[in-house]
Amino acid sequence: MLQCASSGQVFSHGFSIGESQPFKCKICGKEDAYIPEKCYWSKGADGKWAIKDTPTYVILPYRLDPEGARTLDCPDCGRVIVGHNPKPDQADIDRANGVTGESESGSSGG
Ligand SMILES: [Zn+2]
Ligand SMILES: [Zn+2]
Repeated sequence: MLQCASSGQVFSHGFSIGESQPFKCKICGKEDAYIPEKCYWSKGADGKWAIKDTPTYVILPYRLDPEGARTLDCPDCGRVIVGHNPKPDQADIDRANGVTGESESGSSGG
């Protein structure tokens, strides 16, 4: 999958050896397409995190400019997106929502 930096559109692309960025955009024809990161996090109106099926695609600034930032806040959910952004599993979602699997019954000694 590639994303056009100009239009933000994503399209599928079969990579071949020796290709380098920027790739040619299938949509506008410009050499302005980069490998995007995917954010699968979604924040609902109730403030709870969830996994979404269709990710938000973003091009990290350093793809465009080697001196650019290597992380970016997701325009959709606000989480920080890093290179090779990991897809969350349910445990990650629970942790983000402050849900713990085990009940804590601590007694303070004194
Ligand atoms: Zn384009
Ligand atoms: Zn996001």
